[in-house]
Amino acid sequence: MKEIAEASREILEAFAPIGEERVPLLSALGRHLSRDFTARQDLPAFDNSAMDGYALVAADIAGATHDAPAALPVIGESRAGGPIPPPLAPKSAMRIFTGAPLPAGADAVVLQEDTRRSDDVVSVLEAARAGDNVRKQGSDLRVGARALARGARLGPGALALLASQDAASVHVYRRPRVAILSTGDELRDIGEPARPGTIVNSNAYALAAQVREADCEPWVLPTVPDKLDDARAAIRAGLAADVVVLSGGVSVGEYDVVRDALVAEGIELSFWKVRMKPGKPLAFAQKGRVPVLGLPGNPVSAWVTFELFVRPGLRKMLGDAHPERPRITVTLAEPITRKAGRTELARARLVRREGGLVAQLAARQGSGSLPALAEVDALVVIPGDAERIDTSQSLEAILLSYPH
Ligand code: AMP
Ligand code: MG
Repeated sequence: MKEIAEASREILEAFAPIGEERVPLLSALGRHLSRDFTARQDLPAFDNSAMDGYALVAADIAGATHDAPAALPVIGESRAGGPIPPPLAPKSAMRIFTGAPLPAGADAVVLQEDTRRSDDVVSVLEAARAGDNVRKQGSDLRVGARALARGARLGPGALALLASQDAASVHVYRRPRVAILSTGDELRDIGEPARPGTIVNSNAYALAAQVREADCEPWVLPTVPDKLDDARAAIRAGLAADVVVLSGGVSVGEYDVVRDALVAEGIELSFWKVRMKPGKPLAFAQKGRVPVLGLPGNPVSAWVTFELFVRPGLRKMLGDAHPERPRITVTLAEPITRKAGRTELARARLVRREGGLVAQLAARQGSGSLPALAEVDALVVIPGDAERIDTSQSLEAILLSYPH
């Protein structure tokens, strides 16, 4: 049996970015840069005013106060988007507005609120220092400097920065396409006649949604019967994708054909029992650059093992330098007693209490119990050897969503 951490590490190693593509700026939202982005333009692009007020030379109003204002004639105006202003006439002030170019010769802007205006003369009520309220060209970013590093996640702020650089499109890591193969003679799709003994293939929906939630592209293939030849053909088809995820058929029963099918296809296979609950049987293989993962069929097990072993790999393919979910510390809302055994990943909702987040474990923790999956905020890691956990004990939890 493998420990979770060891299995995670080994699997994560098999995943790597699968190349880059150039996408229009807005389509890059949430993606990761595959190249450094070098500034093409200074930011600000020109010296400009941070405020509405008057452009002048700070030395010309040295010592100005409310009681002893410095008076200057107002000559000309500079407004955002207006004509480029002439140089500042000696011993004068120029009316200026936020974002407008600073006239040559001026070194400061005084706020409108710190002046009194009468006709063509402005009385400045407060002294200024050179540079006051001036946004200097290149003070935020210089041409040629690295504006964003490879791997940077492109959120709305990063897109704004790239837009300011006239970047209509950017290079990002490609989104992997993930083949989803559900095995099981008992499976039918939503709406198909419910023959006795059949169940809906819910894993296909769960896994496709998990793939999409990880920002990758799900590719759901037709359900695979529990026959070796069918499984082999399905795996061959799935290998056209960047990652193959199978569910079901990885245990040791007579109808569990996934393992044999992978071996028959010449795919080098690591088959593990991972010391975890839910989960346990897990097949992991690689065909060239394509990772192939056989998850258990039980819906909760498939869901949890995807979270643990597939999602971080997919995020890594996307160029995410921190592909793992965040981990937080929680306490339990109610004490639990249990039999010592495997490490448990308990489905929990998080509730706010003074002192932090408290985990309310789902009442039914069975590996097939779907209702517990429908409203889950976190997977609480229950150490295998624990027999009793009270409400004061700190536990690690994998954070899936933050409670409101
Ligand atoms: P298996 O791993 O194939 O032995 O399946 C274990 C359990 O999970 C069985 O009860 C299956 O019916 C169920 N199961 C397998 N695949 C799926 C699926 N795609 N959707 C829902 N349940 C499934
Ligand atoms: Mg099966």
